[in-house]
Amino acid sequence: MKQKIACITGSSRGIGKAIALCFAQDGYDVVLNCRNSISQMEQLKSEIETTYSVRCMGICADVSVPEQAAHMFQSIASEFGEIDVLVSNAGISFFGLISDMTPLEWQNVINTNLSSAFYCCKEIIPSMVAKKSGRILMISSIWGSCGASYEAAYSAAKGGLNTFTKALAKELAPSHIPVNAIACGVIDTEMNAHLTAEEMQALIDEIPACRLGTPEEVGQLALLLSKAPEYLTGQIITMDGGLL
Ligand code: NDP
Repeated sequence: MKQKIACITGSSRGIGKAIALCFAQDGYDVVLNCRNSISQMEQLKSEIETTYSVRCMGICADVSVPEQAAHMFQSIASEFGEIDVLVSNAGISFFGLISDMTPLEWQNVINTNLSSAFYCCKEIIPSMVAKKSGRILMISSIWGSCGASYEAAYSAAKGGLNTFTKALAKELAPSHIPVNAIACGVIDTEMNAHLTAEEMQALIDEIPACRLGTPEEVGQLALLLSKAPEYLTGQIITMDGGLL
């Protein structure tokens, strides 16, 4: 039986890393990606290869740039194989008043959190449609459902990602390719490192589960969704400790 391949964008650390480890532990060959943090990605690649005895490829590419995303998927196809599961996880946050945000900063947030999903999907969809199988999962945010002050661009991007997920699911359902998203609440990663201890505690006080989520919990859910019945498609699955 052909070994399955999962590609996780933005997987040098945080949620993407945890997702990659979950898929590797389950026996998937794994493609890692990051933009800058190459040494972290290489370290994870060695860990995956030695611990789980699966193949692992690490590719440095900025998935918010269409040419780099296209080149990345061409390299994966020629050097590694056809992708069975794409997890579009790469993302950045921007915290600040909308009136202080420059158009360039806006574009960067939209391109990294939303357009990157389009660039990556565009590259892998033809091979998935040809074999009528595959899975696509977006890593979104609860702010894409309800909006967050000081994070208007990020909220807009994740809201767009949610609707992109629903629309793409309709387009790909006839080809037996489920498309879903996980809308994360507050997860304990470097993305929240800018928060002070007081701000973090105030946030935790609002979460019914009384704690942040862990990247490993998102990884476990991502793997579960990769095994879910294909009739589950077009869903934005909220994982937020009861916050919303
Ligand atoms: P981290 O900042 O910890 O990790 C982000 C990862 O994405 C890094 O590997 C980073 O690599 C990579 N990355 C960023 N931009 C690009 C790019 N243009 N091209 C390729 N790789 C890129 O973030 P998290 O793990 O917390 O976030 C992962 C996803 O989860 C994001 O989409 C985020 O929006 C979402 N999310 C996170 C929440 C949280 O509370 N942490 C809550 C809700 C959603 P490099 O450093 O090399 O750029």
